[in-house]
Amino acid sequence: MRRVQHFIDNAFVDSIGCSTFPSVSPIDNGQVAEVAEGTREDAARAVEAARRAFDEGPWPRMSPAERKRILHRVADGIDARAADLAQWETRDMGKPIREAAGKDIPRCAYNFRFFADYAEHLATRAFDQPSAGIFSYELREPLGVAAAISPWNFPLMLLTWKVAPALAFGCTVVAKPAEQSPITASILAEIVAEVDVPPGVFNVVQGFGPDAAGEELTVHPGVDAVTFTGESATGRAIMRNAAATLKKLSFEMGGKSANIVFADADLDAAVDGSILGSFSNQGEVCLAGTRLLVQRPVYDEFVQRFAERAEALVVGDPRQEATAIGPLVTPEHTDKVLSYIELAHDEGAKLLTGGKRLTNGDLARGNYVAPTVFADADNSMRVCQEEIFGPVEMVMPFDQVDDAIAIANQSRYGLAGMVWTSNLNTAHRVARGVRTGTMWVNCFFVRDLRAPFGGYKDSGIGREGGDDSHEFFTESKAVVMKLA
Ligand code: NAD
Repeated sequence: MRRVQHFIDNAFVDSIGCSTFPSVSPIDNGQVAEVAEGTREDAARAVEAARRAFDEGPWPRMSPAERKRILHRVADGIDARAADLAQWETRDMGKPIREAAGKDIPRCAYNFRFFADYAEHLATRAFDQPSAGIFSYELREPLGVAAAISPWNFPLMLLTWKVAPALAFGCTVVAKPAEQSPITASILAEIVAEVDVPPGVFNVVQGFGPDAAGEELTVHPGVDAVTFTGESATGRAIMRNAAATLKKLSFEMGGKSANIVFADADLDAAVDGSILGSFSNQGEVCLAGTRLLVQRPVYDEFVQRFAERAEALVVGDPRQEATAIGPLVTPEHTDKVLSYIELAHDEGAKLLTGGKRLTNGDLARGNYVAPTVFADADNSMRVCQEEIFGPVEMVMPFDQVDDAIAIANQSRYGLAGMVWTSNLNTAHRVARGVRTGTMWVNCFFVRDLRAPFGGYKDSGIGREGGDDSHEFFTESKAVVMKLA
Protein backbone atom coordinates (compact mmCIF):
# COMPACT_ATOMS: atom_id res chain seq x y z
CA MET A 1 0.00 0.00 0.00
CA ARG A 2 1.30 3.45 -0.92
CA ARG A 3 1.68 6.25 1.58
CA VAL A 4 0.82 9.61 0.02
CA GLN A 5 2.02 12.77 1.77
CA HIS A 6 1.89 16.47 1.01
CA PHE A 7 4.87 18.02 -0.79
CA ILE A 8 5.76 21.40 0.69
CA ASP A 9 9.03 23.33 0.28
CA ASN A 10 10.55 20.29 -1.49
CA ALA A 11 9.84 17.97 1.46
CA PHE A 12 7.28 15.20 1.85
CA VAL A 13 5.27 15.84 5.01
CA ASP A 14 2.26 14.48 6.86
CA SER A 15 -0.70 16.63 7.79
CA ILE A 16 -0.11 18.80 10.83
CA GLY A 17 -2.63 16.72 12.80
CA CYS A 18 -1.44 13.49 11.07
CA SER A 19 -4.95 12.73 9.79
CA THR A 20 -5.24 10.50 6.72
CA PHE A 21 -7.89 9.00 4.45
CA PRO A 22 -7.93 5.83 2.33
CA SER A 23 -7.65 5.95 -1.47
CA VAL A 24 -9.70 3.13 -2.93
CA SER A 25 -9.37 1.54 -6.39
CA PRO A 26 -12.62 1.30 -8.35
CA ILE A 27 -11.37 -1.98 -9.85
CA ASP A 28 -12.29 -3.86 -6.66
CA ASN A 29 -12.97 -1.12 -4.10
CA GLY A 30 -9.86 -2.21 -2.19
CA GLN A 31 -7.61 0.36 -0.56
CA VAL A 32 -4.46 1.24 -2.55
CA ALA A 33 -3.07 4.17 -0.57
CA GLU A 34 -3.23 5.96 2.75
CA VAL A 35 -3.33 9.67 1.98
CA ALA A 36 -2.51 12.72 4.10
CA GLU A 37 -5.76 14.60 4.65
CA GLY A 38 -4.95 18.26 4.21
CA THR A 39 -6.62 20.71 6.57
CA ARG A 40 -6.82 24.46 6.14
CA GLU A 41 -3.57 24.71 8.12
CA ASP A 42 -1.76 22.33 5.76
CA ALA A 43 -2.92 24.32 2.76
CA ALA A 44 -1.85 27.56 4.44
CA ARG A 45 1.58 26.09 5.07
CA ALA A 46 1.89 25.21 1.37
CA VAL A 47 0.74 28.70 0.35
CA GLU A 48 3.31 30.30 2.65
CA ALA A 49 6.07 28.18 1.06
CA ALA A 50 4.90 29.17 -2.44
CA ARG A 51 4.64 32.83 -1.36
CA ARG A 52 8.24 32.87 -0.03
CA ALA A 53 9.48 31.17 -3.19
CA PHE A 54 7.72 33.79 -5.29
CA ASP A 55 8.61 36.87 -3.26
CA GLU A 56 12.19 35.97 -2.40
CA GLY A 57 13.27 32.99 -4.48
CA PRO A 58 14.97 32.73 -7.87
CA TRP A 59 12.12 31.14 -9.88
CA PRO A 60 10.20 34.25 -11.04
CA ARG A 61 13.50 36.04 -11.63
CA MET A 62 15.02 33.37 -13.85
CA SER A 63 14.98 33.74 -17.60
CA PRO A 64 12.39 31.63 -19.44
CA ALA A 65 15.33 29.69 -20.93
CA GLU A 66 16.59 28.74 -17.46
CA ARG A 67 13.11 27.62 -16.40
CA LYS A 68 12.78 25.73 -19.67
CA ARG A 69 15.92 23.69 -18.94
CA ILE A 70 14.50 22.62 -15.57
CA LEU A 71 10.96 21.95 -16.83
CA HIS A 72 12.31 19.74 -19.61
CA ARG A 73 13.97 17.69 -16.89
CA VAL A 74 10.56 17.32 -15.22
CA ALA A 75 9.18 16.11 -18.57
CA ASP A 76 12.10 13.67 -18.88
CA GLY A 77 11.25 12.39 -15.40
CA ILE A 78 7.62 11.83 -16.41
CA ASP A 79 8.76 9.94 -19.51
CA ALA A 80 11.12 7.82 -17.44
CA ARG A 81 8.33 6.86 -15.04
CA ALA A 82 5.56 6.74 -17.63
CA ALA A 83 4.70 3.06 -17.14
CA ASP A 84 4.50 3.48 -13.37
CA LEU A 85 2.38 6.64 -13.67
CA ALA A 86 0.00 4.98 -16.14
CA GLN A 87 -0.44 1.94 -13.88
CA TRP A 88 -1.26 4.14 -10.90
CA GLU A 89 -3.65 6.35 -12.87
CA THR A 90 -5.51 3.21 -13.91
CA ARG A 91 -5.58 1.67 -10.43
CA ASP A 92 -6.53 4.91 -8.74
CA MET A 93 -9.47 5.98 -10.91
CA GLY A 94 -10.27 3.13 -13.32
CA LYS A 95 -9.08 4.62 -16.61
CA PRO A 96 -8.27 1.92 -19.22
CA ILE A 97 -4.50 1.40 -19.30
CA ARG A 98 -4.41 1.91 -23.04
CA GLU A 99 -5.74 5.46 -22.52
CA ALA A 100 -3.50 6.19 -19.54
CA ALA A 101 -0.34 4.83 -21.18
CA GLY A 102 -1.17 5.76 -24.75
CA LYS A 103 -2.53 9.27 -24.30
CA ASP A 104 -2.71 10.80 -20.85
CA ILE A 105 0.77 10.30 -19.44
CA PRO A 106 2.59 11.22 -22.69
CA ARG A 107 0.45 14.40 -22.70
CA CYS A 108 1.60 15.21 -19.15
CA ALA A 109 5.23 15.28 -20.30
CA TYR A 110 4.23 17.22 -23.40
CA ASN A 111 2.41 19.84 -21.29
CA PHE A 112 5.74 20.64 -19.63
CA ARG A 113 7.74 20.64 -22.86
CA PHE A 114 5.16 22.69 -24.75
CA PHE A 115 4.82 25.51 -22.20
CA ALA A 116 8.54 25.57 -21.36
CA ASP A 117 9.35 26.12 -25.04
CA TYR A 118 6.42 28.48 -25.59
CA ALA A 119 7.46 30.78 -22.75
CA GLU A 120 10.92 31.18 -24.21
CA HIS A 121 9.69 32.43 -27.57
CA LEU A 122 7.12 35.05 -26.60
CA ALA A 123 7.38 38.56 -27.93
CA THR A 124 6.09 41.69 -26.23
CA ARG A 125 4.03 44.60 -27.53
CA ALA A 126 5.33 48.10 -28.18
CA PHE A 127 3.33 51.30 -28.81
CA ASP A 128 5.07 54.11 -30.64
CA GLN A 129 3.65 57.66 -30.50
CA PRO A 130 6.30 59.72 -32.35
CA SER A 131 4.27 62.93 -32.55
CA ALA A 132 4.13 63.10 -28.74
CA GLY A 133 7.62 61.74 -28.22
CA ILE A 134 6.20 58.84 -26.25
CA PHE A 135 7.23 55.23 -26.57
CA SER A 136 5.46 52.60 -24.51
CA TYR A 137 6.01 48.91 -24.18
CA GLU A 138 4.46 46.07 -22.26
CA LEU A 139 6.24 43.98 -19.67
CA ARG A 140 4.63 40.66 -18.80
CA GLU A 141 5.57 39.55 -15.34
CA PRO A 142 4.76 36.36 -13.43
CA LEU A 143 1.43 36.74 -11.64
CA GLY A 144 2.37 35.28 -8.26
CA VAL A 145 1.14 32.21 -6.39
CA ALA A 146 -1.31 30.07 -8.36
CA ALA A 147 -3.57 27.45 -6.79
CA ALA A 148 -4.29 24.59 -9.20
CA ILE A 149 -7.38 22.57 -8.20
CA SER A 150 -8.09 19.57 -10.40
CA PRO A 151 -10.69 16.79 -10.81
CA TRP A 152 -10.36 13.01 -10.84
CA ASN A 153 -11.21 12.12 -14.44
CA PHE A 154 -7.83 12.98 -16.01
CA PRO A 155 -5.87 13.32 -12.77
CA LEU A 156 -2.31 14.08 -13.88
CA MET A 157 -3.11 15.32 -17.37
CA LEU A 158 -5.37 18.11 -16.11
CA LEU A 159 -3.10 18.93 -13.19
CA THR A 160 -0.08 19.35 -15.47
CA TRP A 161 -2.21 21.36 -17.92
CA LYS A 162 -2.35 23.95 -15.11
CA VAL A 163 0.97 23.47 -13.34
CA ALA A 164 3.18 23.44 -16.45
CA PRO A 165 2.14 26.87 -17.80
CA ALA A 166 2.07 28.40 -14.32
CA LEU A 167 5.68 27.33 -13.74
CA ALA A 168 6.83 28.13 -17.28
CA PHE A 169 5.54 31.70 -16.96
CA GLY A 170 7.28 32.12 -13.59
CA CYS A 171 4.54 31.57 -11.01
CA THR A 172 4.86 29.35 -7.98
CA VAL A 173 2.16 26.75 -7.42
CA VAL A 174 0.13 24.92 -4.83
CA ALA A 175 -1.62 21.99 -6.50
CA LYS A 176 -4.61 20.19 -4.96
CA PRO A 177 -5.48 16.96 -6.77
CA ALA A 178 -8.92 15.43 -6.38
CA GLU A 179 -9.38 13.30 -3.29
CA GLN A 180 -10.50 10.35 -5.46
CA SER A 181 -7.20 10.26 -7.40
CA PRO A 182 -4.31 11.54 -5.29
CA ILE A 183 -1.47 9.21 -6.29
CA THR A 184 0.01 10.47 -9.56
CA ALA A 185 0.32 14.05 -8.29
CA SER A 186 2.45 12.64 -5.51
CA ILE A 187 4.64 10.80 -8.05
CA LEU A 188 5.00 14.10 -9.94
CA ALA A 189 6.26 15.62 -6.68
CA GLU A 190 8.86 12.83 -6.46
CA ILE A 191 10.00 13.74 -9.96
CA VAL A 192 10.18 17.44 -9.13
CA ALA A 193 12.19 16.64 -5.99
CA GLU A 194 14.83 14.94 -8.17
CA VAL A 195 15.46 17.93 -10.43
CA ASP A 196 16.63 21.39 -9.39
CA VAL A 197 13.26 23.12 -8.93
CA PRO A 198 13.88 25.51 -6.01
CA PRO A 199 12.02 24.85 -2.73
CA GLY A 200 8.46 26.16 -2.54
CA VAL A 201 8.05 26.54 -6.30
CA PHE A 202 5.84 23.46 -6.68
CA ASN A 203 3.80 22.21 -3.75
CA VAL A 204 1.08 19.57 -3.49
CA VAL A 205 -1.51 19.52 -0.76
CA GLN A 206 -3.78 16.49 -0.64
CA GLY A 207 -7.31 16.29 0.71
CA PHE A 208 -10.88 17.41 0.26
CA GLY A 209 -12.51 20.62 -0.93
CA PRO A 210 -15.21 22.22 1.26
CA ASP A 211 -13.98 23.47 4.63
CA ALA A 212 -10.62 21.76 4.00
CA ALA A 213 -7.42 22.18 1.98
CA GLY A 214 -9.22 23.00 -1.27
CA GLU A 215 -11.32 25.79 0.17
CA GLU A 216 -8.37 27.31 2.01
CA LEU A 217 -6.57 27.78 -1.30
CA THR A 218 -9.50 29.87 -2.52
CA VAL A 219 -9.61 32.19 0.50
CA HIS A 220 -5.96 32.50 1.55
CA PRO A 221 -4.67 36.04 0.90
CA GLY A 222 -1.33 34.61 -0.23
CA VAL A 223 -2.90 33.09 -3.35
CA ASP A 224 -3.15 35.39 -6.38
CA ALA A 225 -5.01 33.14 -8.81
CA VAL A 226 -7.06 29.96 -8.84
CA THR A 227 -7.17 27.72 -11.87
CA PHE A 228 -9.91 25.17 -11.30
CA THR A 229 -11.33 22.26 -13.27
CA GLY A 230 -14.37 20.48 -11.91
CA GLU A 231 -18.12 20.76 -11.50
CA SER A 232 -19.96 24.00 -12.22
CA ALA A 233 -21.45 23.97 -8.69
CA THR A 234 -17.93 23.85 -7.23
CA GLY A 235 -16.93 26.75 -9.50
CA ARG A 236 -19.75 28.81 -8.05
CA ALA A 237 -18.57 28.09 -4.49
CA ILE A 238 -14.97 28.95 -5.38
CA MET A 239 -16.03 32.23 -6.97
CA ARG A 240 -17.99 33.20 -3.86
CA ASN A 241 -15.13 32.25 -1.57
CA ALA A 242 -12.46 33.97 -3.66
CA ALA A 243 -14.38 37.24 -3.90
CA ALA A 244 -13.11 38.59 -0.57
CA THR A 245 -9.51 38.52 -1.77
CA LEU A 246 -10.30 39.30 -5.45
CA LYS A 247 -8.34 36.44 -6.96
CA LYS A 248 -7.88 36.00 -10.67
CA LEU A 249 -9.95 32.97 -11.70
CA SER A 250 -9.95 30.49 -14.54
CA PHE A 251 -12.67 27.81 -14.55
CA GLU A 252 -13.04 24.74 -16.79
CA MET A 253 -16.28 23.02 -15.81
CA GLY A 254 -19.05 20.65 -16.82
CA GLY A 255 -20.44 19.85 -20.25
CA LYS A 256 -23.32 18.27 -22.12
CA SER A 257 -22.01 18.62 -25.63
CA ALA A 258 -23.91 17.98 -28.85
CA ASN A 259 -22.41 15.59 -31.37
CA ILE A 260 -24.18 16.35 -34.67
CA VAL A 261 -24.19 13.83 -37.53
CA PHE A 262 -25.48 14.99 -40.92
CA ALA A 263 -26.79 12.62 -43.56
CA ASP A 264 -23.98 13.63 -45.94
CA ALA A 265 -21.24 12.63 -43.45
CA ASP A 266 -18.75 9.82 -43.87
CA LEU A 267 -20.77 7.54 -41.62
CA ASP A 268 -17.90 5.12 -40.89
CA ALA A 269 -15.81 8.00 -39.56
CA ALA A 270 -18.81 9.44 -37.72
CA VAL A 271 -19.55 6.12 -35.98
CA ASP A 272 -15.89 5.69 -34.98
CA GLY A 273 -15.63 9.27 -33.74
CA SER A 274 -18.93 9.15 -31.89
CA ILE A 275 -17.99 5.95 -30.07
CA LEU A 276 -14.75 7.60 -28.99
CA GLY A 277 -16.56 10.82 -28.10
CA SER A 278 -19.17 9.03 -26.00
CA PHE A 279 -17.34 6.22 -24.25
CA SER A 280 -13.66 7.17 -23.82
CA ASN A 281 -12.67 7.01 -20.17
CA GLN A 282 -16.07 5.20 -19.62
CA GLY A 283 -17.84 8.47 -20.40
CA GLU A 284 -16.22 10.32 -17.51
CA VAL A 285 -15.14 13.11 -19.87
CA CYS A 286 -16.23 16.74 -19.62
CA LEU A 287 -15.92 17.12 -23.41
CA ALA A 288 -17.94 13.99 -24.22
CA GLY A 289 -20.58 14.34 -26.93
CA THR A 290 -23.31 13.06 -24.66
CA ARG A 291 -26.19 14.32 -26.80
CA LEU A 292 -25.98 12.58 -30.17
CA LEU A 293 -28.06 14.39 -32.79
CA VAL A 294 -28.54 12.43 -36.03
CA GLN A 295 -30.19 13.79 -39.18
CA ARG A 296 -33.39 11.92 -39.93
CA PRO A 297 -32.53 10.28 -43.31
CA VAL A 298 -29.67 8.29 -41.69
CA TYR A 299 -31.09 8.11 -38.16
CA ASP A 300 -32.14 4.44 -38.09
CA GLU A 301 -29.02 3.17 -39.83
CA PHE A 302 -26.65 5.28 -37.77
CA VAL A 303 -28.28 4.51 -34.44
CA GLN A 304 -28.22 0.79 -35.12
CA ARG A 305 -24.54 0.83 -36.06
CA PHE A 306 -23.68 3.04 -33.08
CA ALA A 307 -25.53 0.80 -30.61
CA GLU A 308 -23.91 -2.36 -32.03
CA ARG A 309 -20.47 -0.82 -31.66
CA ALA A 310 -21.24 0.31 -28.10
CA GLU A 311 -22.42 -3.18 -27.17
CA ALA A 312 -19.18 -4.68 -28.51
CA LEU A 313 -16.92 -2.47 -26.32
CA VAL A 314 -14.92 -4.64 -23.91
CA VAL A 315 -15.84 -3.81 -20.32
CA GLY A 316 -13.44 -5.10 -17.69
CA ASP A 317 -10.35 -4.72 -15.59
CA PRO A 318 -8.77 -1.49 -16.88
CA ARG A 319 -5.29 -2.94 -16.40
CA GLN A 320 -5.94 -5.28 -19.34
CA GLU A 321 -4.82 -3.93 -22.71
CA ALA A 322 -8.08 -5.08 -24.38
CA THR A 323 -10.34 -3.15 -22.00
CA ALA A 324 -12.21 -0.18 -23.48
CA ILE A 325 -14.53 0.55 -20.54
CA GLY A 326 -13.19 0.45 -16.99
CA PRO A 327 -15.01 0.90 -13.68
CA LEU A 328 -16.59 4.20 -12.59
CA VAL A 329 -14.59 6.18 -10.09
CA THR A 330 -16.55 5.43 -6.87
CA PRO A 331 -19.60 3.43 -5.73
CA GLU A 332 -21.41 6.75 -5.06
CA HIS A 333 -20.75 7.97 -8.58
CA THR A 334 -21.89 4.58 -9.96
CA ASP A 335 -25.18 4.95 -8.08
CA LYS A 336 -25.61 8.41 -9.55
CA VAL A 337 -25.08 7.12 -13.11
CA LEU A 338 -27.48 4.21 -12.51
CA SER A 339 -30.10 6.62 -11.18
CA TYR A 340 -29.87 8.59 -14.44
CA ILE A 341 -30.40 5.34 -16.39
CA GLU A 342 -33.60 4.80 -14.39
CA LEU A 343 -34.62 8.39 -15.05
CA ALA A 344 -34.07 7.93 -18.80
CA HIS A 345 -36.56 5.03 -18.72
CA ASP A 346 -39.00 7.13 -16.71
CA GLU A 347 -38.69 10.06 -19.10
CA GLY A 348 -39.53 7.81 -22.06
CA ALA A 349 -36.23 7.29 -23.89
CA LYS A 350 -35.81 3.92 -25.62
CA LEU A 351 -33.01 1.67 -24.34
CA LEU A 352 -31.04 0.05 -27.16
CA THR A 353 -28.19 -1.51 -25.23
CA GLY A 354 -26.65 -1.62 -21.75
CA GLY A 355 -28.62 0.07 -19.02
CA LYS A 356 -27.28 -2.02 -16.18
CA ARG A 357 -24.52 -2.65 -13.73
CA LEU A 358 -22.19 -5.56 -14.63
CA THR A 359 -21.50 -8.03 -11.85
CA ASN A 360 -20.23 -11.16 -13.59
CA GLY A 361 -17.09 -12.72 -12.02
CA ASP A 362 -14.53 -10.24 -10.72
CA LEU A 363 -16.60 -7.30 -11.97
CA ALA A 364 -18.88 -7.75 -8.95
CA ARG A 365 -16.22 -6.21 -6.71
CA GLY A 366 -15.83 -3.07 -8.83
CA ASN A 367 -18.03 -0.28 -10.23
CA TYR A 368 -18.82 -1.47 -13.75
CA VAL A 369 -21.70 -0.14 -15.87
CA ALA A 370 -22.41 -1.44 -19.39
CA PRO A 371 -22.09 1.06 -22.25
CA THR A 372 -25.61 2.37 -22.57
CA VAL A 373 -27.44 3.88 -25.52
CA PHE A 374 -30.90 5.45 -25.33
CA ALA A 375 -32.58 6.43 -28.60
CA ASP A 376 -35.54 8.70 -29.39
CA ALA A 377 -34.66 11.05 -26.56
CA ASP A 378 -36.00 14.57 -26.37
CA ASN A 379 -33.65 17.43 -25.54
CA SER A 380 -35.99 18.71 -22.83
CA MET A 381 -35.50 15.54 -20.76
CA ARG A 382 -33.42 15.94 -17.63
CA VAL A 383 -31.11 13.19 -18.92
CA CYS A 384 -30.37 15.46 -21.90
CA GLN A 385 -29.81 18.54 -19.75
CA GLU A 386 -27.84 17.24 -16.77
CA GLU A 387 -24.31 15.89 -16.77
CA ILE A 388 -24.41 12.10 -16.19
CA PHE A 389 -20.63 11.60 -16.46
CA GLY A 390 -20.73 7.90 -17.29
CA PRO A 391 -21.09 5.56 -20.29
CA VAL A 392 -24.61 6.72 -21.14
CA GLU A 393 -25.49 8.25 -24.51
CA MET A 394 -28.77 9.99 -25.40
CA VAL A 395 -29.61 9.94 -29.13
CA MET A 396 -32.22 12.08 -30.88
CA PRO A 397 -33.17 12.92 -34.50
CA PHE A 398 -33.17 16.33 -36.18
CA ASP A 399 -34.22 17.66 -39.60
CA GLN A 400 -32.47 20.88 -40.70
CA VAL A 401 -29.14 22.59 -39.89
CA ASP A 402 -30.89 25.28 -37.85
CA ASP A 403 -32.78 22.64 -35.86
CA ALA A 404 -29.50 20.99 -34.88
CA ILE A 405 -27.99 24.33 -33.86
CA ALA A 406 -31.07 25.20 -31.80
CA ILE A 407 -31.05 21.83 -29.99
CA ALA A 408 -27.30 22.09 -29.35
CA ASN A 409 -27.82 25.53 -27.79
CA GLN A 410 -30.71 24.43 -25.56
CA SER A 411 -28.32 23.66 -22.71
CA ARG A 412 -26.89 25.52 -19.77
CA TYR A 413 -23.49 24.15 -20.81
CA GLY A 414 -21.25 25.15 -23.73
CA LEU A 415 -18.00 23.25 -23.48
CA ALA A 416 -17.57 21.39 -26.79
CA GLY A 417 -19.37 20.11 -29.85
CA MET A 418 -18.76 17.97 -32.89
CA VAL A 419 -20.16 18.07 -36.38
CA TRP A 420 -19.84 15.33 -39.00
CA THR A 421 -20.58 16.49 -42.56
CA SER A 422 -19.02 16.60 -46.03
CA ASN A 423 -20.54 20.04 -46.68
CA LEU A 424 -18.20 22.90 -45.84
CA ASN A 425 -21.03 25.42 -45.49
CA THR A 426 -22.86 23.18 -43.03
CA ALA A 427 -19.67 22.77 -41.02
CA HIS A 428 -19.15 26.53 -40.85
CA ARG A 429 -22.78 27.27 -40.02
CA VAL A 430 -22.74 24.82 -37.12
CA ALA A 431 -19.31 25.96 -35.90
CA ARG A 432 -20.53 29.56 -35.86
CA GLY A 433 -24.02 28.83 -34.56
CA VAL A 434 -23.31 26.67 -31.53
CA ARG A 435 -22.30 28.59 -28.41
CA THR A 436 -19.47 26.42 -27.20
CA GLY A 437 -15.76 26.65 -26.38
CA THR A 438 -14.52 24.03 -28.86
CA MET A 439 -16.17 22.73 -32.03
CA TRP A 440 -14.65 19.72 -33.78
CA VAL A 441 -15.39 19.21 -37.48
CA ASN A 442 -15.08 15.60 -38.68
CA CYS A 443 -12.81 14.74 -35.78
CA PHE A 444 -12.91 14.47 -32.04
CA PHE A 445 -10.67 15.05 -28.99
CA VAL A 446 -7.93 16.54 -31.17
CA ARG A 447 -6.09 19.38 -29.46
CA ASP A 448 -3.55 22.01 -30.42
CA LEU A 449 -2.18 23.39 -27.16
CA ARG A 450 -1.82 26.85 -28.74
CA ALA A 451 -5.61 27.06 -29.25
CA PRO A 452 -7.91 28.53 -26.58
CA PHE A 453 -9.53 25.95 -24.33
CA GLY A 454 -12.54 26.60 -22.09
CA GLY A 455 -16.28 26.90 -22.07
CA TYR A 456 -19.25 29.19 -22.66
CA LYS A 457 -22.10 29.52 -20.14
CA ASP A 458 -21.87 27.15 -17.14
CA SER A 459 -18.91 25.35 -18.71
CA GLY A 460 -16.30 27.90 -17.85
CA ILE A 461 -14.82 31.30 -17.30
CA GLY A 462 -11.70 32.34 -19.18
CA ARG A 463 -9.54 30.32 -21.51
CA GLU A 464 -6.28 28.43 -21.12
CA GLY A 465 -3.76 27.20 -23.70
CA GLY A 466 -0.97 29.05 -25.51
CA ASP A 467 -1.40 32.82 -25.31
CA ASP A 468 -4.44 32.47 -23.04
CA SER A 469 -2.40 30.65 -20.39
CA HIS A 470 0.29 33.31 -20.77
CA GLU A 471 -2.32 35.99 -20.21
CA PHE A 472 -3.71 34.18 -17.17
CA PHE A 473 -0.46 33.43 -15.38
CA THR A 474 1.13 36.86 -15.92
CA GLU A 475 0.45 40.49 -15.09
CA SER A 476 0.82 43.12 -17.78
CA LYS A 477 2.74 46.31 -17.05
CA ALA A 478 2.88 49.35 -19.33
CA VAL A 479 6.23 51.16 -19.33
CA VAL A 480 5.75 54.64 -20.76
CA MET A 481 8.84 56.62 -21.79
CA LYS A 482 9.18 60.28 -22.74
CA LEU A 483 11.80 60.51 -25.42
CA ALA A 484 14.01 63.57 -25.62
P1 NAD B 1 -15.49 18.58 -8.28
O1 NAD B 1 -15.91 19.96 -8.59
O2 NAD B 1 -16.28 17.80 -7.31
O3 NAD B 1 -13.99 18.57 -7.70
C1 NAD B 1 -12.91 19.13 -8.41
C2 NAD B 1 -11.85 19.58 -7.44
O4 NAD B 1 -12.36 20.66 -6.65
C3 NAD B 1 -11.39 18.51 -6.46
O5 NAD B 1 -10.01 18.62 -6.28
C4 NAD B 1 -12.15 18.89 -5.18
O6 NAD B 1 -11.54 18.44 -4.01
C5 NAD B 1 -12.12 20.39 -5.28
N1 NAD B 1 -13.17 21.08 -4.50
C6 NAD B 1 -14.42 20.66 -4.23
N2 NAD B 1 -15.09 21.60 -3.53
C7 NAD B 1 -14.23 22.64 -3.35
C8 NAD B 1 -14.31 23.91 -2.70
N3 NAD B 1 -15.42 24.31 -2.08
N4 NAD B 1 -13.23 24.71 -2.72
C9 NAD B 1 -12.09 24.35 -3.36
N5 NAD B 1 -11.95 23.16 -3.97
C10 NAD B 1 -13.00 22.31 -3.98
O7 NAD B 1 -15.36 17.83 -9.68
P2 NAD B 1 -15.03 16.28 -9.95
O8 NAD B 1 -16.20 15.46 -9.56
O9 NAD B 1 -13.69 15.98 -9.37
O10 NAD B 1 -14.86 16.29 -11.53
C11 NAD B 1 -15.89 16.07 -12.44
C12 NAD B 1 -16.37 17.39 -12.99
O11 NAD B 1 -15.28 18.08 -13.60
C13 NAD B 1 -17.41 17.25 -14.08
O12 NAD B 1 -18.40 18.21 -13.93
C14 NAD B 1 -16.62 17.50 -15.35
O13 NAD B 1 -17.38 17.92 -16.45
C15 NAD B 1 -15.66 18.54 -14.90
N6 NAD B 1 -14.49 18.59 -15.78
C16 NAD B 1 -14.34 19.67 -16.60
C17 NAD B 1 -13.25 19.74 -17.47
C18 NAD B 1 -13.05 20.90 -18.40
O14 NAD B 1 -11.96 21.01 -18.97
N7 NAD B 1 -14.02 21.75 -18.61
C19 NAD B 1 -12.32 18.69 -17.48
C20 NAD B 1 -12.52 17.61 -16.63
C21 NAD B 1 -13.60 17.59 -15.77
